[in-house]
Amino acid sequence: MESKVVLVTGSSRGIGRAIVTDFARKGYNVVINYIKEDSQAKELKERLEKKYHIKALIIRADVSDENEVQKMIDTIINKFGRIDVLVNNAGIAIDKEFEDRTVEDWKRTLSVNLIAPFIVSKYVGNEMLKNKYGRIINISSTNGINAFFPTSIDYDASKAGLINLTHNLAIQFAPYINVNCVAPGWVNTDMNKELPKDLIEEETNKIYKKRFAEPSEIAKVVTFLASDDADFINDEIIKVDGGY
Ligand code: NAD
Repeated sequence: MESKVVLVTGSSRGIGRAIVTDFARKGYNVVINYIKEDSQAKELKERLEKKYHIKALIIRADVSDENEVQKMIDTIINKFGRIDVLVNNAGIAIDKEFEDRTVEDWKRTLSVNLIAPFIVSKYVGNEMLKNKYGRIINISSTNGINAFFPTSIDYDASKAGLINLTHNLAIQFAPYINVNCVAPGWVNTDMNKELPKDLIEEETNKIYKKRFAEPSEIAKVVTFLASDDADFINDEIIKVDGGY
């Protein structure tokens, strides 16, 4: 049987990188999308192809730009002929005090974290429907379930919106495409590397497991949701936060 094809947005580093790696480990051909990290994406492609004997394609595209998304999907279809799994992982967090937060910050955050998953799902969903098969997994956040910090007010709203988008996409693409959502809590990635030490300590204490997650622990849940074993899991939101 031909290998399945997965597109993971924002996958040159962090959680996306771990997700794409776990799919490659499971024999999928992978598409690594990124916006800035050219050399990291190239290095990842070479490493995955060599280690797992799969095909990897790297595509630089801003997922909040509809034209770039269209071109990216065309490139994938030309190369692989189909897309079986989409992981809407790319995301940004602008850390600012409530008073300093601008309308421009809101627009940028919503466009990458919420509107981009809609754009990519629309184009990829249409491709999946041709094969009457697909899996879409959105990476939200526990910040989208509970309000945590007014310093990430637009991020939290974007992640809450992504949960709602999951519900609507699951209805739109039924019965062929399962649409699910993973909501991580704190994860050890570059996104959190600038956080003050005392905040990290305070937050670690609130987590029942007393540590942040590793990206691979999020990835394993995502690849499970894409697997045949998860065929009857649809329109579900799974928190992966170690208890909080
Ligand atoms: P990260 O900053 O390390 O990686 C984000 C990736 O998205 C980067 O590769 C970046 O280049 C890419 N990206 C950003 N804007 C893009 C765009 N417009 N087009 C294409 N790619 C773009 O962050 P991470 O911690 O790995 O986060 C991955 C996802 O997980 C995000 O959606 C984030 O909100 C979510 N998340 C992270 C945490 C955490 O604690 N790190 C917790 C919950 C949810």
